[in-house]
Amino acid sequence: MTALPEVRLWVGEKKLPTGSGGVFDHVNPATGQVQAQIPLAGSAEVADAVEAAAEAFKVWRGMRPDQRRDLLLRLGELIRENQPELTRIAALENGTPVIGGPHYVKLAVNWLTYYAGWADKLQGTVTGSFVQGTDFTYSQPEPYGVIGAIITWNVPLASLCMKVVPALAAGNTVVIKPSELTPFTAEMFARLAEEAGIPAGVITVVPGTADAGQALVAHPKVQKISFTGGPATARKILATCAEHLKPSVMELGGKSANIIFADADLDKASAEAIRMGLSALSGQACILGSRVLVQDSVYDEVVAKLVAAAESLPIGDPSNPGVLFGPVINTAARDRILSLVDEARADGSGRLVTGGNPIRGELAAGSFVEPTIFADVDPGSSLAQNEVFGPVISVSRFSTDDEAVEIANSTDFGLAAYIHSRDVTRVHAVADRLEAGTVYVNGAAVVQPWSPFGGQGESRFGREGGYQGIAEFIRPKTVAIAPLR
Ligand code: NAD
Repeated sequence: MTALPEVRLWVGEKKLPTGSGGVFDHVNPATGQVQAQIPLAGSAEVADAVEAAAEAFKVWRGMRPDQRRDLLLRLGELIRENQPELTRIAALENGTPVIGGPHYVKLAVNWLTYYAGWADKLQGTVTGSFVQGTDFTYSQPEPYGVIGAIITWNVPLASLCMKVVPALAAGNTVVIKPSELTPFTAEMFARLAEEAGIPAGVITVVPGTADAGQALVAHPKVQKISFTGGPATARKILATCAEHLKPSVMELGGKSANIIFADADLDKASAEAIRMGLSALSGQACILGSRVLVQDSVYDEVVAKLVAAAESLPIGDPSNPGVLFGPVINTAARDRILSLVDEARADGSGRLVTGGNPIRGELAAGSFVEPTIFADVDPGSSLAQNEVFGPVISVSRFSTDDEAVEIANSTDFGLAAYIHSRDVTRVHAVADRLEAGTVYVNGAAVVQPWSPFGGQGESRFGREGGYQGIAEFIRPKTVAIAPLR
């Protein structure tokens, strides 16, 4: 077995080597080999974790904001110092190529330090005063208490920093339910938080399956749920939230359009379309532009560039520093993705121009899928409408700006959209009409901590990033004082 940190259940002061949810055989996605056995939390450990978090809330909330800020900043320093180890773990855990590791760790630390900086900047407002003849009235931001954070496996460190750190900075404590597929990063996060001096119970980590997540959502002491995952799971969580009248943030899936206009820098646009559509995390990111829309007059040229770029991706074991494109998360995901490819071939959704197979030879034991492109895709087809969450892009043709906007807005999702064009007037006009939480133009950097990120439609509600991202974890309390006369 490869050296990975031993996973425990972090429940207040306790670090439990076993849980009532059983044991999970963790498989290295690149090799198909079991590489660790991890304990899973059941509802008993989840309940204990929530109780510990509720106790810790009294301590954490009572700290001065600058103390909370400094502890979080120290956690950021430790994550930065541990970047090589976190990068190594990510390659083994979910197949993130080590070449991208420094980028993902830096992104996570940026989110963490951004929100640490908010800890001492939350302000209230005075809304009435004696001089105006009203009661003296002020509103101050209050933390909720215990937050339940449920995350998925594709970028676990960034997800933790996007979700958990703003909740902590606002004075809440957090029970984290990581995916059982990525328990090692969460273990490292808990260890480094302890080393940073964050009090026990402020962060509790209970890796587990859907049952542990369900128990967390249903626990009456959990005041709010912040969830990242798919729409089907979101519906189940929301049903439980409805029973308890519990608020939530929902960061769900996407099927984002990437519109390439004829006036764009076509080399750059094509390279970006592959990077931010197919190769990043082997296509397993909610935000990717998996529907590429190309203007008529440059359509054939762009399709040729996309195919050339996809076919030249260095594929292999993600622990190898020369590799850009690794496996998908597991063989179940590989088989699911390939069956969607087969369906698209059979139902005539589009014309397969490259890929469409598992990768054989030396990599056959891992969960690898060839970078796959369908051209001439019918925008209404199942391939163009549904999330694949794998290295598959569909390319469709448009002629006018109106048509591009209509196709881009034609799915149930609304997470992101991309535009490639040199015409600034067109960029503003099209961006204004796109139904998406974020529009990225000409290769702009994605999910920066200072900007609100989130969706509409099936990608759903709430924001991470910017003031809105911390506002999700505070509620105003108004105090009104009558004058003493
Ligand atoms: P998923 O919905 O199956 O699982 C996500 C998390 O929810 C996991 O930790 C899982 O154990 C837990 N869970 C499952 N059932 C549960 C239940 N009934 N109650 C409580 N928790 C439960 O998602 P996935 O397949 O792991 O991830 C892929 C999905 O996540 C895609 O749709 C992708 O687009 C989305 N995603 C969204 C974002 C975003 O920020 N918008 C980021 C990454 C991934």
